[in-house]
Amino acid sequence: YLVDKRKNNYKIYNKKLFIDKVEFESLHQDLIQAINNEDLFLEFQPKVNTYSERIVSFEALIRWNHCNKGIIQPDEFISIAEKTGMIKKIGVWVLDQTFKQLEEWEKIGFDDIVISINMSEIELNDPNIIKIIKKISSSYSIANKKIEFEITERSFKEVSTDVMNELKRMGFLISLDDFGTGYSSLSYFGKSPFDLLKLDKIFIDNIYKEKSRLIVESVINLAHKFDVKVIAEGVETKEQLEILRKIECDYIQGYYFYKPMSASKITVILNNLKKNSST
Ligand code: C2E
Ligand code: MG
Ligand code: MG
Ligand code: MG
Repeated sequence: YLVDKRKNNYKIYNKKLFIDKVEFESLHQDLIQAINNEDLFLEFQPKVNTYSERIVSFEALIRWNHCNKGIIQPDEFISIAEKTGMIKKIGVWVLDQTFKQLEEWEKIGFDDIVISINMSEIELNDPNIIKIIKKISSSYSIANKKIEFEITERSFKEVSTDVMNELKRMGFLISLDDFGTGYSSLSYFGKSPFDLLKLDKIFIDNIYKEKSRLIVESVINLAHKFDVKVIAEGVETKEQLEILRKIECDYIQGYYFYKPMSASKITVILNNLKKNSST
């Protein structure tokens, strides 16, 4: 099923897959192996400043190199990992890898990089989550402020404010992912400790339409009043970029600028940018 889907190049965005019990169990078993066999890997997608177009940070996105199904995208296995609790193990791995990557980039002179990672409510509701994060953090010489936790609007309301506040206190950045797709409440702005709001691609897809543009513009204005920066997800065209510039969206993420890439490709890009800026 997964293979056929890829053959037809059918791309799902932000949707949970429907699979039957047998497929679920077989993928679950494969996923246990995947962690042990180091078949999971991260790609990094740059985020840029809307006006300077300079890279400001990266989002780490997990992939699974399945032994006979090829590369499996997170939309196809994260929900399985969440339902089986395996997401906790995966989350630890992602955080550890991210610290490791930051350390590697720092070693070769890129010391002002921020990486965001996605965290589901299942990970954040683990009663030991703060202890776990502290332990990983203490084994690297990287400041916590270089890591941002992306939490979807849907997950956000399921997570205790104590955990969120503690993450902030520890220096981590927090962003509200897929904004606009949950049951948004404007009261979030007054009391929640997030630094960045990620506008869901669905609004960007429709930004040519007057109504969508007005919603996005109002959200940006409101966010700015609360000192929250806004990033647009899934920007694919110049026209979208130009509209987002006019309505003062701070950052852009999307195929128009960069797709998610391997760490080594990112290193090449960073080196080229450095060369160009020093000549
Ligand atoms: P997300 O956090 O909202 O990530 C954005 C998704 O949009 C990514 O899909 C990214 O590759 C894709 N994207 C970025 N720019 C564009 C664009 O211009 N056009 C289109 N069509 N797509 C674009 P991806 O990598 O397949 O990840 C899907 C979701 O899986 C993520 O949504 C996130 O919720 C989840 N996820 C990914 N990695 C992790 C992880 O390490 N842990 C957890 N818990 N969830 C993860
Ligand atoms: Mg998403
Ligand atoms: Mg995200
Ligand atoms: Mg998102």
